[in-house]
Amino acid sequence: MKLDAKIPTGDLKDKWKNYQSHCRLINPANKRKLDIIVVGSGLAGAGAAATLAEGGYNVKCFCFQDTPRRAHSIAAQGGINAAKNYQNDGDNTWRMFYDTLKGGDFRSREANVYRLAELSAPLIDHFAQQGVPFAREYGGVLANRSFGGVQVQRTFYARGQTGQQLLLASYSQLSRQIAAKKVQMFSRHEVQEIVVIDGKARGVIVRDLVSGELSRHSAHAVVLATGGYSKVFFLSTLAMNCNGSAIWKAHKKGALFASPSFTQIHPTALPQGSETQSKLTLMSESLRNDGRIWVPKNKDEKRAPNDIPEEERDYYLERRYPAFGNLAPRDISSRAAKERIDAGYGVGPLKNAVYLDFKHSIARLGKDTIKSRYGNLFEMYLKITGIDAYTEPMKISPAPHFSMGGLWVDYELHTTLPGLYAIGECNFADHGANRLGANSLLQASVDGYFILPLTIGNYLADDLKTGKISTDHAAFSEAEASVKNKFEKIINNNGTKTVDSLHRRLGKIMWQECAMSRTKEGLEKAIREIRELREEFYKEVKVTGKIQEFNQELDKASRLVDFLEMAELMCVDALERNESCGAHFREEYQTSDGEALRNDESYSYVSAWEFKNVGNFILHKEELKFEFVQPSVRSYK
Ligand SMILES: Cc1cc2nc3c(=O)[nH]c(=O)nc-3n(C[C@H](O)[C@H](O)[C@H](O)COP(=O)(O)OP(=O)(O)OC[C@H]3O[C@@H](n4cnc5c(N)ncnc54)[C@H](O)[C@@H]3O)c2cc1C
Repeated sequence: MKLDAKIPTGDLKDKWKNYQSHCRLINPANKRKLDIIVVGSGLAGAGAAATLAEGGYNVKCFCFQDTPRRAHSIAAQGGINAAKNYQNDGDNTWRMFYDTLKGGDFRSREANVYRLAELSAPLIDHFAQQGVPFAREYGGVLANRSFGGVQVQRTFYARGQTGQQLLLASYSQLSRQIAAKKVQMFSRHEVQEIVVIDGKARGVIVRDLVSGELSRHSAHAVVLATGGYSKVFFLSTLAMNCNGSAIWKAHKKGALFASPSFTQIHPTALPQGSETQSKLTLMSESLRNDGRIWVPKNKDEKRAPNDIPEEERDYYLERRYPAFGNLAPRDISSRAAKERIDAGYGVGPLKNAVYLDFKHSIARLGKDTIKSRYGNLFEMYLKITGIDAYTEPMKISPAPHFSMGGLWVDYELHTTLPGLYAIGECNFADHGANRLGANSLLQASVDGYFILPLTIGNYLADDLKTGKISTDHAAFSEAEASVKNKFEKIINNNGTKTVDSLHRRLGKIMWQECAMSRTKEGLEKAIREIRELREEFYKEVKVTGKIQEFNQELDKASRLVDFLEMAELMCVDALERNESCGAHFREEYQTSDGEALRNDESYSYVSAWEFKNVGNFILHKEELKFEFVQPSVRSYK
């Protein structure tokens, strides 16, 4: 299969403008003849659904939460990036583009990344006009802070609730379209299958999570905005119900899956406290603006952190990466924490954490300033741990957080299944092998508000005479039957093991072998264990209750079926890539001082996997061409 990313011609800064000037448009009267399904109501989905409806399309939007405004985007804390240069610190579109490309270790497309940076400034204006209460300076200008991997301040924020404020704005716009009857909203409905007719995505099969009823929905195009799949690790910073089922179903129906093993482990989550824990809590990366990370120099340190004198502390990020210090990118910071923890310098009861200390910034700036910047995060920390981080360092630890991989999409965010689009975290497009902090809210929003609503017209222009798609088509019946069959198989199984116990074991395999560092032997072992666990799932899973009712165990089981297949592909992908880049760190490929050893000659491509059957995938490669920058050895020293 030849992968055509459809990058427009011209200079980097002209590509998006060229695309906008030459793509086909559909006039509003014709848009009224076209139906679009949007799966997801996070920043990507809500932005897309509202904008498509505003333009005239008929939209159906689905989410599994009880309201669209509880999509996972609401949990985002730290901020959203834009190259506005309000600080006059040397920022511009090019610098943001370069930081992002370098942050992703040169494993993403130049044209996509440039467009992301280019659209960042108008996006902030867009949200400010919608009334998002961004933090402001004394004079009224929007305030900025820094996130990892950059040396400028380009992160806009609303205290530690940026995702919440952005999503509330998007939700308001979505609500306007729901009231105008241009968007039909289906909360607590989970898409179970993508329906393909004559090679095109034409609809979905959906389960009502309250009644258990299945329903059929047709459209001229389907947009997936279903978020990330890091819940495959079981323990993660994501909300409990986040899952990868929709993209996995799409993958099985013909959409290639790109860079599945590129997942981000965030350096500043709260450490796991016990074996029975089911969720990890993020402490925003923004804290690294003012917090200093350290571990004791002495392995057997028993003293409380405040009793350990300065000369006995190892500020290991500042030591190893003096140019970026505590703001080294996430992959590097997480690996550095793992290195210290594995070497026996970890702190806390399980010795699985490092300190994040505000003592110096409080002395420099005063407690009130720190409180105004991070007050709600400190409160959250106090509630969870009982520790006052104004007087004692926080304990933090790396945790699964974000998926850079996802469905392969071209420049138009179109997957390889015609009529199926993927936007936001569920596509692979912009972050390469490592996402920079605060670039994800940005990507989800520009995909949903600015890019997809335009590019989808280029495809739908051929559909003006198609008319309504009937849900009586045999493809709908087949898809619905396969969903029914799946649920019956699960519920009729007479096993003894809970869904969570099996998912937890999958998470452990993935955490040990396919997280912060990977080896050939470890990945081969993981693949064997995942296959065994998959068999065990079908023999041993026990789900009580009925299909036709509110049954959360059944929902979880159905999602785990997909994770058990997806996890294998993640390991296969990590095994195939015999290099280290970004978050993908193969122990065999490292420099003498423990940094990632990239191999551009052999691996400068996006891995895009085709599904044949369970456990059997074919690799396609999209060569990455660097016309405007020369990939360099990534250094933050
Ligand atoms: C704790 C935390 C903090 C973060 N902080 C930041 C930050 O400060 N800055 C930043 O840039 N990024 C941050 N991120 C990342 C960022 O929040 C996400 O990448 C982004 O919000 C994803 O948006 P999305 O619209 O793609 O998906 P989501 O917001 O995850 O929305 C997914 C939607 O899809 C729906 N859905 C999924 N599957 C189905 C299905 N089968 N059927 C029906 N509906 C379905 C869900 O119901 C939901 O509505 C953070 C992430 C976490 C975990």
